[in-house]
Amino acid sequence: MNLTRFPRVRFTQAPTPLEYLPNLTRTLGGPHIFIKRDDNTGLALGGNKTRKLEFLIGDALAHGATHIVTQGATQSNHVRQTIAAANRHGLRTTVLLEERVSGAPEDYYRNGNVLLDQILGAAAIETRPAGLDMNAELAAVGERLRAAGEVPYLIPGGGSNAIGALGYVVAAQEIIAQANALDLRVDHVVHATGSTGTQAGLVVGFEAVSSHIPVLGISVRAPRERQEDNVRRLARETWALLGVRGDFPGERVVANADYVGGGYGVPTEGMVEAVHLLARTEGILLDPVYSGKGLAGLIDLVCKDVFTEGQNIVFVHTGGAAGLFAYRSTLAP
Ligand SMILES: *Cc1c(COP(=O)(O)O)cnc(C)c1O
Repeated sequence: MNLTRFPRVRFTQAPTPLEYLPNLTRTLGGPHIFIKRDDNTGLALGGNKTRKLEFLIGDALAHGATHIVTQGATQSNHVRQTIAAANRHGLRTTVLLEERVSGAPEDYYRNGNVLLDQILGAAAIETRPAGLDMNAELAAVGERLRAAGEVPYLIPGGGSNAIGALGYVVAAQEIIAQANALDLRVDHVVHATGSTGTQAGLVVGFEAVSSHIPVLGISVRAPRERQEDNVRRLARETWALLGVRGDFPGERVVANADYVGGGYGVPTEGMVEAVHLLARTEGILLDPVYSGKGLAGLIDLVCKDVFTEGQNIVFVHTGGAAGLFAYRSTLAP
């Protein structure tokens, strides 16, 4: 597996730390819980999209792009990191924010990532109502920019295509190397899954080198079967892009959608508990849309003895704490 043949720029001081969480482990009384600190990727408050953007911006530059176009929900961490990444390389950015969550308090529409998008200074921040074909919206903006003499480069929501997923193939390699150095047998990796690039990259990264570490994606939006199908499709594309021999083992893609609650970005009691618990035991800040629901899932699965004493679980902290400020009334009512 040769990752060096793909254009790449660097944003992250790799490896991000892999830390033991003694207080959370003691509080839950189950498996040893470790955390992979991908909230510390170093680009404008960090998060998992930074790893994908190393390959996506690398590819954009290789194509002579002048202007990045991408999209996400109003409180998108991906959009925030994309503007920052483009700024580093002198590229302009147009972003489309889909108003996917309705009836939220004012902070949701103005604070958190939205404020940071404005500070980072995209060339244009446009909004779209929920329910449109956002890929078609992206393509239309791309055409508009091309007509104006720009060279647009379109990045899909979450940076989740095969090029972006390479960032999480790299993360899988990091986890394997760190676990080896610590003499740590990793029994399971758990993380929040949305646009699928993170899980697709991790599973491909582990399977391509036959490490066979199981990955569980806690869905924040789609029902289980649809999420697994979406992850599997992207994993196959990533596997092919890398030129790994043989067929991608599709059964290695496993998701759980029991912690979505009322829908994408809609708070749950478990999320609020998880955010408070990790902050109060370990001093680590999660986020309300992704990692909070992801850890809520892990906590519940420990309570249900799905993960048990003696096991070693690595929770991938995918970032997003900027979103806490958009959920002020939920988290500190
Ligand atoms: C985007 C995001 C995820 C989900 O990752 P995908 O690659 O989109 O599945 C998880 N956590 C945070 C904080 C995110 O911003």
